[in-house]
Amino acid sequence: MAKRPAFADWLDDTNDVTRMFLAAGQIPGLINLAGGLPDPQLYPARALADLAHAALTETPQDALNYAPIEGYGALRDALATRYETDKLKLTRENVLITSGGIQGLELIGKVLLNEGGAIATQTPTYLGALDAWRPRRPTYRPMRPDANDFDPAVALRGCQFGYTVPNFSNPTGKLVPTNVRAALVEAAQSTGTWLVEDDPYGALYYDETPLPRMIELAGDGAPYDGPVIYLGSLSKELAPGLRIGWVIAAPEMIAKLTLAKQGSDMSTSGLSQVLTLRTFETGLDARVLPDILTLYAARRDALCAAMETHLTPWFDWEKPVGGMFVWAVARNPDFNTDDLLQAALRAKTCVSPSSVFDPLGEDRRAIRINFTLNSEPQLAEGIRRLAVACQEVDLR
Ligand code: PMP
Repeated sequence: MAKRPAFADWLDDTNDVTRMFLAAGQIPGLINLAGGLPDPQLYPARALADLAHAALTETPQDALNYAPIEGYGALRDALATRYETDKLKLTRENVLITSGGIQGLELIGKVLLNEGGAIATQTPTYLGALDAWRPRRPTYRPMRPDANDFDPAVALRGCQFGYTVPNFSNPTGKLVPTNVRAALVEAAQSTGTWLVEDDPYGALYYDETPLPRMIELAGDGAPYDGPVIYLGSLSKELAPGLRIGWVIAAPEMIAKLTLAKQGSDMSTSGLSQVLTLRTFETGLDARVLPDILTLYAARRDALCAAMETHLTPWFDWEKPVGGMFVWAVARNPDFNTDDLLQAALRAKTCVSPSSVFDPLGEDRRAIRINFTLNSEPQLAEGIRRLAVACQEVDLR
């Protein structure tokens, strides 16, 4: 009999609810509040077409050849400059260009995780990170930075690394406060543990001044060599189809991740890299950001107003000050949001249930609602449908 392939075991671990809500996009007329997608009308397609034309005619060899594994030097320099502060001193040796932020997560798993190794992860956490690390079958130590008794040093000790999304976490949309960021950095330094700062939403602050990045807090004025591994991405601030992400880390870590990347995709698309560099050089990214912030802030307000009208009997939530999601927690601890998802699909809407974001798969009490993809009237209608589904679940 044919031997069962190794990957079959970890595919079996994928939660059924994950599969169900990934398939939900196919239902006609469904208002999908479950995903995490930007609004495609905001992609600056025409400006990118002009830049792509210039890239292909002026520097076709850079755009069409294999690129260096670690990325084009000029793009790495531009990113080093973008993140440099008085305390955080960076050169291109601190930068690796990746194929989306998700590749950074996958490479970190390849480099740092032993089979069954422990990860201290902010909980609930990003589903894609759980997917990226699933082949190593890690064990998870949940970190809840907003708990009163949270002790970062206890959380990190003995783990292969710690993982956080400090700006507008996916799924909760919340910020990790500055004092907790500083405590996490200090704990990473004192325990000698790597700390992954995953930051695809860092540009999406709508109402407040950005909090300091953990990698900034780890800078000491000397060439950066600290324990924070920072992951950035163009997906939420420009366009996910470019598949451009980056890692900023100690040169020793960048060298290891580069070796891992060689066996993954050889290099990130040269065309996308050249386009990204031209985007930075022409300031296109800075020009599109204000429109993104204005549209998403208005949608967040519309979503929260609709939730106020329809969902208060069932859920509590906080209005987020940025990002793409509202996290709503059921008032009744026995309310089951996996069941709610089934009822919501019958009512032709869809939200993400908390079970898919819990590394231990146990949380059934919350939902993640996205506000960036749909128009304000669609958001209101989606929430009205969700209230119908809540009623159905409640009557059981
Ligand atoms: N990290 C987090 C927390 C995310 O939410 C996402 C995208 N949903 C990513 C990483 C990866 O994004 P990308 O690969 O498109 O850069």
